[in-house]
Amino acid sequence: GPDYVRAIAPYQAGKPIAEVAREFGLDEANIVKLASNENPFGIPESSKQAMAQAAAELGRYPDANGFELKAALSKRYDVPADWITLGNGSNDILEIAAHAFVQKGESVVFSQYSFAVYALATQGVGGRAIVVPAAEYGHDLDAMADAIEADTRLVYIANPNNPTGTFIPAARIEAFLARVPANVIVVLDEAYNEYLAPENQFESSQWVRKFPNLIVSRTFSKAYGLAGLRVGFAIAQPAVTDLMNRIRQPFNVNSLAQAAAVAALNDKEFLAKGAQNNAEGYKQLTAAFDELGLEYVPSYGNFVLVKVGNDDGAGARVNLVLLKQGVIVRPVGNYGLPQWLRISIGLPDENATFIAALKRALG
Ligand code: PMP
Repeated sequence: GPDYVRAIAPYQAGKPIAEVAREFGLDEANIVKLASNENPFGIPESSKQAMAQAAAELGRYPDANGFELKAALSKRYDVPADWITLGNGSNDILEIAAHAFVQKGESVVFSQYSFAVYALATQGVGGRAIVVPAAEYGHDLDAMADAIEADTRLVYIANPNNPTGTFIPAARIEAFLARVPANVIVVLDEAYNEYLAPENQFESSQWVRKFPNLIVSRTFSKAYGLAGLRVGFAIAQPAVTDLMNRIRQPFNVNSLAQAAAVAALNDKEFLAKGAQNNAEGYKQLTAAFDELGLEYVPSYGNFVLVKVGNDDGAGARVNLVLLKQGVIVRPVGNYGLPQWLRISIGLPDENATFIAALKRALG
């Protein structure tokens, strides 16, 4: 295989509950998983019902063009349906963008400590990653604009960012977009957008009217609770969308996922309940970190990055002690943050179980 494929370090996903139960001799029912920024309420009831109906038609291929889902998204985001690309999760969108716009040897700009899939998608097409040093654990947009080279084809921005939870206000992103050359595609990855407080929300989906090189990426995996179904989508102008749809697998979003996503999109109560739980859980976790004197990065997502020690073994060490107590969180050594752990915000009792286990781990 190509050298650039051999050079890829595999994505490190959160350990599944069953595996941890077996490895540490624990009862699955007692395990708390706060490792993959999933929705602690699980899948909405409305989506379950829609899936039960759609299941009757599983003998047929999915709608390759996602007519109903795109119609619903078009209405929600006030863009024509042919400005939308559906993805098998938004990871698929990130990868489709790399395939559609980057050739082997060309460069892609993204930030240090930004989402791991940007590097994977870049390497997957033999692209050259230009990793820009972070500022305060978040994106330094001025430095990123300066880092764009003649052969740069793509920029990835995560807002809020994973794993650090940092947020970039609208005005700063708009100023950045105004600086980026028109032939460089910018993917604005808003996987955690729905967790933002109303005062931090902005109409990024309407920016694509002004910026022909902008792709806004969203997902149903987080606030909508459909991580296991794999549904994401992109909004961009038709010329960009057309290219992404050429490279996209025709049936990349399955029938159950399409039906569940339409239902979830219309389930305002589910979203509101999740946002409220998240805001309260954030207070619960950060109050405990304050009490323990632990540094954390203020987060705008459904997770918090916390520093659990001053030596480079700290993250892995504390993680292991947590695992033995049946608490799964995410070590972030692969992000160059070996002293930190990323904790997804769960239900109040799940957060409490984690906090108790953390206190024991820090002894
Ligand atoms: N972008 C960011 C910033 C993420 O954190 C994630 C999930 N870890 C994704 C995209 C991809 O999520 P999904 O493929 O489930 O939509």
